[in-house]
Amino acid sequence: MTFSVPSVMLNNGVPIPQLGFGVFLVPPDETAAAVATALDAGYRLIDTAQGYRNEQGVGEAIARSDVPREEIFITTKLTNSQHGYDRALAAFDASLEKLGIDVLDLFLIHWPLPMFDAYVETWRALEQLLVDGRVRSIGVSNFEVEHLERLADETDIIPALNQVELHPEFPQGELRAYHESHGILTESWGPLGQNRGLLDDARVVEIAEEKGRTPAQVVLRWHIQVGNVVIPKSVTPNRIRENIDVFDFELDDADMETFAEMNVGRRLGPHPNELDLV
Ligand code: NAD
Repeated sequence: MTFSVPSVMLNNGVPIPQLGFGVFLVPPDETAAAVATALDAGYRLIDTAQGYRNEQGVGEAIARSDVPREEIFITTKLTNSQHGYDRALAAFDASLEKLGIDVLDLFLIHWPLPMFDAYVETWRALEQLLVDGRVRSIGVSNFEVEHLERLADETDIIPALNQVELHPEFPQGELRAYHESHGILTESWGPLGQNRGLLDDARVVEIAEEKGRTPAQVVLRWHIQVGNVVIPKSVTPNRIRENIDVFDFELDDADMETFAEMNVGRRLGPHPNELDLV
């Protein structure tokens, strides 16, 4: 069975599917098969990054698929070592080459790396790529309010989307509120809590049992109802299909309240001001 995902609108009028397939830590030689399974299941948003070293596998799956290129939304991200205007432009070219495409759908700055003070200049390169028609939308990842404010003050284009760590234990309330008031979509990474206990939480299990769904499905449904774009990852075909099958049931107010109570402010990844990996 193929599932169909509704789209939401980016601030420049480009639609993005609300649920997609993430390929962080998918080994390069398994990526084409995993993406092919995802496309067969109905995923139309694929989230990769230069740093994942699997853009080529994504490109292979898209080239081989019967799904037309224009129906697939591809995101990739500028890797940390390529900040700076000229470096970002060159790295973008290399991504298109690996993905085997002429125009990218969404290009993100992967991390702000504020200690190097280069993200404003890097953002200028992304603005140029947008103006030149080489990418349909541009955004950021792991940006805090202070970084978004600097882009708003010093550059011309508001990011279409900010991809950040977000799950019921870390729902990013303040950042989401900033996004909402500035026309920026919120995209959740680590949406299932990266397989580190969230799906075993008794409250999640209970809601799943009541709904006759799996813990992963009710967590993904929570993201959808909160209004996030969400990009779960799996290499297991049954889970890939399970994770997209979340559009024929709803969580009620009591379920949403239970999820709200799970907020413990627990990050799984680094704070964006601390990550300085180059
Ligand atoms: P995730 O929360 O999607 O967890 C993935 C893990 O959950 C899988 O490896 C598997 O162990 C488990 N899982 C998946 N489906 C399941 C199911 N149905 N039942 C039980 N367990 C299941 O974490 P993630 O991969 O870190 O995040 C998703 C995507 O977000 C990534 O693939 C990547 O595209 C993106 N991401 C971006 C950043 C960033 O800095 N921008 C960082 C991390 C991830």
